[in-house]
Amino acid sequence: MEQLELAIEEIKKELPGLALYENEPMAEHCSFHIGGPVRALAVPQDVTGLTKICYLLKKHEIAPYILGNGTNILFPDEGLKDLFIISTEKLTKLFLLPDGAIYAEAGVSLAKLAGFAQQNGLAGLEFASGIPGSVGGGLMMNAGAYGGELKDAAESAVIYFLPEQALYELSNEQCAFGYRSSLFQKMPGCVILSAVFRLEKGDPEQIAAKMRELNAKRREKQPLDLPSAGSAFKRPEGGFAAALIDEAGLKGYTVGGAQVSEKHAGFVVNVGGATSHDVYDLMMHIRKTVYEHSKVVLEPEMILLPPDYKLEDHGPQIPLHRVWGGTESRV
Ligand SMILES: Cc1cc2nc3c(=O)[nH]c(=O)nc-3n(C[C@H](O)[C@H](O)[C@H](O)COP(=O)(O)OP(=O)(O)OC[C@H]3O[C@@H](n4cnc5c(N)ncnc54)[C@H](O)[C@@H]3O)c2cc1C
Repeated sequence: MEQLELAIEEIKKELPGLALYENEPMAEHCSFHIGGPVRALAVPQDVTGLTKICYLLKKHEIAPYILGNGTNILFPDEGLKDLFIISTEKLTKLFLLPDGAIYAEAGVSLAKLAGFAQQNGLAGLEFASGIPGSVGGGLMMNAGAYGGELKDAAESAVIYFLPEQALYELSNEQCAFGYRSSLFQKMPGCVILSAVFRLEKGDPEQIAAKMRELNAKRREKQPLDLPSAGSAFKRPEGGFAAALIDEAGLKGYTVGGAQVSEKHAGFVVNVGGATSHDVYDLMMHIRKTVYEHSKVVLEPEMILLPPDYKLEDHGPQIPLHRVWGGTESRV
């Protein structure tokens, strides 16, 4: 029996109460509503349960893939022979620390975190209230909007580092945040467990008004009525992906069920029945066309999980934006 099957058997034996869904279709667990079954999806009850699963996987030299809200991922239609752990159902502790900072577990949604900050008269996370991700996914991606980024608010993060079976607390500086990037993306085997956010005092009414303003802007500009994974491409140096895509005449361009949003050219949306290959082919067409039009190479922002998409058919060769996890994640 291959290592993953042995590990799953052991997990079932050692954690009999664990919610473990086998051959679980991922279309139901991501905002794109695309994706075939993964070998197993575990929903640990708490941080101890999560680290225990990691420990058992490590014994078999396997890394799990941690999933937050699934709002920045394209899962393949073919499915994946991997074990995923979902953080957002139970790892949701959120409270004020005695010194006024906010403690949040990885599964807390960014909307809830921002709302909690507002209720406690803490300003600085207004930008995050409309980002549909979780604290874990948000830190991994250094999510941001309207001039704010999580790096501006996160004081520290606690991670479980699977290769060493150890817990670490990293300061903001150690997290090495950059534009939609963080140390965690370069650290195979890193599971974000929680974070502390330190914010400025502010007037709850003004904070709420700012959130309403930003969310209205979002509703006006973004295709929130259709499934997507947010911005398909990162902002290239000195420009905006959406403007370049628009200038290349691609607004509304469609491959199967995947379309360059007519409302916001930076979004690839699922207009109905899109496959992961539709999305991938469309993204590669966008890159090729934008490159021909403006000589700018766009780098995907969303995470494209394997399998074997054929890169060579599609214009300039750039490695896909891929963080650890999935079939290449053996530790
Ligand atoms: C409509 C829409 C609007 C969006 N707007 C924005 C925006 O304004 N700004 C922005 O930055 N993004 C935006 N996004 C993208 C997305 O919401 C963010 O990137 C978000 O931070 C991803 O969080 P998530 O919990 O969904 O992560 P997921 O998609 O679940 O995961 C993203 C990555 O993080 C990893 N990960 C998740 N949790 C953990 C953990 N606990 N430990 C280790 N790794 C983990 C996953 O393995 C994966 O590699 C938008 C998406 C949509 C659909």
